[in-house]
This record gives sequence, structure tokens and C-alpha cells, in this order.
Amino acid sequence: MDTLLYIIVLAGTFSMMEGLTWCTHKFVMHGFLWYLHKDHHQVEPGFFEKNDLFAFIFAVPSFLLIYFGTYDHIWWMQAIGFGIMLYGLAYFLVHDVIIHQRFKWFTKSNNTYVRAIRWAHKMHHKHLGKKDGESFGFLFVHKKYMDKVRRDKKLMAGSKKVEYAPEAE
Ligand SMILES: [Zn+2]
Ligand SMILES: [Zn+2]
Repeated sequence: MDTLLYIIVLAGTFSMMEGLTWCTHKFVMHGFLWYLHKDHHQVEPGFFEKNDLFAFIFAVPSFLLIYFGTYDHIWWMQAIGFGIMLYGLAYFLVHDVIIHQRFKWFTKSNNTYVRAIRWAHKMHHKHLGKKDGESFGFLFVHKKYMDKVRRDKKLMAGSKKVEYAPEAE
């Protein structure tokens, strides 16, 4: 087995998962499975959401691919399984931890990517209903959100200078 090929399949699966998740989010979660995703947009009390079930739905093919890939020595099958699993972990870290802060780990980050992805997903959550959403992706941030954060950062840096004008002393 070629290590480089393994990494290519793994990385390829990882990036294709963002596209697949975008489609699933737009057409399935905001489609016929909206009843499972609804409580992510219209939050109800309690730590768990029906929406968390999607994590399990994605974990099943990942587990099966790793299991049979390892058992039958089909390396590419195992690589695809691990690619899905890695995407799942990244998704959890970005969507559940960084954006929704279900665990208070990176709450004060000023990193442009972190702020942009938060803003982009906030725009998704602005829509409480099933129809007319925007920004269905998770890890990939559209350039317009990155630009917005960069602009905000510049403004912030500018206004700080004003804030420290004589009367503030
Ligand atoms: Zn949604
Ligand atoms: Zn969300």
C-alpha cells in the first residue's frame, strides 16, 4: 500500500464530506428530515437536540468502512472510513464547540477564521424556518464572511485609537 495514495484518499474524502454535508444540510435536514433538525434552529431546553442524531447517522457508514476495510485488508475502504471520521471530529470541533460553544473551550478567540465561521453560521441560524436559508457549509467559509471580519477588525483597531483620546484618560 502506498502511503501517499492513502493520504490522498483520506484528504479527498475529508474535503468531499464538506460538499456532501452541505447537500445533506440543504436538501435533507432542511427537507424531509427537517423535524430532526428543527430544534437546532428553534432551540429547546436541554443539552441534547434531536439534531444530534445526524452525528450517529454519519458515524454508521464511517464505522462500517473502517471495520470491513481493516477486516478484509481493503486499504482504500479504510481510508475513506477514516476520512469521514476525521471530518466528523472537525465538524464537532467547529460546529458544536467553536460556533455553538456547547463546551467553553475557545470562547474568546479573535482568529479571523474562527470569527468568520461563527458569523457565517450565525447567518444560517438567523433563519428560523425550513425555507430560505443561507450558508449551509460548516468548515468552508465563503470569502465574503472572511472579508467582513477583516473589515471589522480594521474598524476595531481604528476605534481603539479614538477610544484612547484624552477624555478617556
Ligand atoms: Zn440548518
Ligand atoms: Zn448550528
